[in-house]
Amino acid sequence: MNEDGYVYSFDPNACESCGGNCCTGESGYIYLNAAEMEKIADFLGLSLDAFAQEYLIKNGYKFSLKEKVVVAGSHDCIFFDRKINGCSIYPVRPTQCRTFPFWSYFKTHKEELRSECPGVLFKDENV
Ligand code: SF4
Ligand code: SF4
Repeated sequence: MNEDGYVYSFDPNACESCGGNCCTGESGYIYLNAAEMEKIADFLGLSLDAFAQEYLIKNGYKFSLKEKVVVAGSHDCIFFDRKINGCSIYPVRPTQCRTFPFWSYFKTHKEELRSECPGVLFKDENV
């Protein structure tokens, strides 16, 4: 899988054995917009209010999914399921998750991406 403007490709087959590095580890934010919130709330059979109460935190003017600490020092996205090593809301996961690892941020943080995602293949190993 390729995206214009990126010096790497991505092989989704790597996800099965990876263990969800992009959904766990260091604390971070998974931002989502109102339409995405509604989609996930529907998927879970919750009202928007109930969903927001249980699964969202506010950071400034934006909303993010909450995290949980399952293993000491590791922050899992609240929807990461360690039994299946995968996302429990996969069909309705936010755009931020769908577009990983093709984030502008990684254009200037290649080493971080290289160590995080085993599915990434750099086209030029000298980058
Ligand atoms: S870090 Fe990469 S290989 Fe691992 S689950 Fe995320 S996208 Fe897949
Ligand atoms: S919503 Fe799903 S894909 Fe996105 S970080 Fe959470 S567990 Fe991972």
